[in-house]
Amino acid sequence: MNYDLTPEQLSIKENFSKFCTKEIEPRAQILDKAEHKEVEKLIKENIKMMAGIGFLGMGHDEAYGGTNLDLISQAIAGEEVAAACASTFLSCGASSGLFGMPLKMFGTEAQKKKYLPGIIKGELIGCFGLTEPGAGSDAASIKTTAVKKGDKWILNGTKTFITNATIADAALVFAYNDKEKGPGAGVTCFLVDKGTKGFSVSKPFDKMGFRGSPTAELILEDCEVPESAVLGQVGNGFIQAMQTLEYGRIGMATVCLGIAAKCLQHANKYSKERNAFGKPINRFQEVSFKLADMMIMSDVARLLIYQASWAKETKNPESAVLASVAKVWASEAATQISSMAVQVFGGYGYIKEFPVERLYRDAKLGEIGEGTSEIQRVLIAKDLIRKYAA
Ligand SMILES: Cc1cc2nc3c(=O)[nH]c(=O)nc-3n(C[C@H](O)[C@H](O)[C@H](O)COP(=O)(O)OP(=O)(O)OC[C@H]3O[C@@H](n4cnc5c(N)ncnc54)[C@H](O)[C@@H]3O)c2cc1C
Repeated sequence: MNYDLTPEQLSIKENFSKFCTKEIEPRAQILDKAEHKEVEKLIKENIKMMAGIGFLGMGHDEAYGGTNLDLISQAIAGEEVAAACASTFLSCGASSGLFGMPLKMFGTEAQKKKYLPGIIKGELIGCFGLTEPGAGSDAASIKTTAVKKGDKWILNGTKTFITNATIADAALVFAYNDKEKGPGAGVTCFLVDKGTKGFSVSKPFDKMGFRGSPTAELILEDCEVPESAVLGQVGNGFIQAMQTLEYGRIGMATVCLGIAAKCLQHANKYSKERNAFGKPINRFQEVSFKLADMMIMSDVARLLIYQASWAKETKNPESAVLASVAKVWASEAATQISSMAVQVFGGYGYIKEFPVERLYRDAKLGEIGEGTSEIQRVLIAKDLIRKYAA
């Protein structure tokens, strides 16, 4: 086993770090404080910038403009993006990952050609609509329906908490076409373009964190889409959603790692410069041990993310459970590390002018989005019990 990054991975790290520190990080606080219309404008510009340095094409095939890089390289770049601005990572990830990866895995050639080049260039934005007001963790209980009428499908339902909803040009929408068959064979995924009759978007939610990444509802009222809008096969939607979420969980773990690493950087610097009782506060063991814990927890998160990425890349049957393990650890580490960072900053950590305040609010989403910590533990425990059943 070799823990060294390859020369190519090292150069990805360096390039993304340089670019994001210069171009993206200075905009993170502005995005966080902006009003919604301004957020839409700024985040679209950030997505375009990230597309410009190849972030949105890293997981996609060259035929559509991507670079088809391995998942560890994507995590390396992703950590740098998230450290600079977690909202930018989330919106890019929802577009090229949650929207783009199902297209890559299950889309027809025509669907890939229609959407992927635009997604990779940051000229099109996508979103992923699974969660509903009455069904989040229990995704099999979604109520959105798809009814076949001639050669069209009629969609009805509401999707909630959808990242990018207000800026998206197209959405993936999961709906029951046959409730009797249950989630395994009765759910279908549809591609719905902005402007389709019967498709609208709510006002954005006023969120605690990730305020630079818009979140809203998708509303489908007798929304008519052609047969060509079906992603892959009718009845395969639930399996498609679950496979996509495996990538999503590695992505959410990565955004949490970026937040954690940035908190450590801020806390380390601040504790060197801030004096109390005649010496820098990092000379107090209570403070320096926090820094040590922050490093330990971030390093473990990074290793678990690389492990999950490697497992997914090599089609290891453990990949799903390893993605859950990485996500639980990295998200819970990020909430603890961001809390420690605020503590190291004392009163200043509680003031919006200081980035650790934003990082603390952003961190919490990691324990909720892409499947809560509780659901990840349910999945991990089920796997353990199955394996070690007497
Ligand atoms: C900012 C943001 C962005 C999001 N982006 C998207 C997106 O782009 N697309 C999308 O489809 N969704 C998105 N989501 C939705 C997200 O995936 C859900 O919020 C999440 O899966 C939890 O679902 P819920 O909110 O309905 O909570 P619930 O499922 O109602 O859970 C409430 C609580 O009950 C616990 N719980 C539920 N079931 C169990 C169980 N079996 N065992 C133990 N505990 C349990 C949960 O862990 C949680 O603590 C987003 C959410 C947020 C906040």
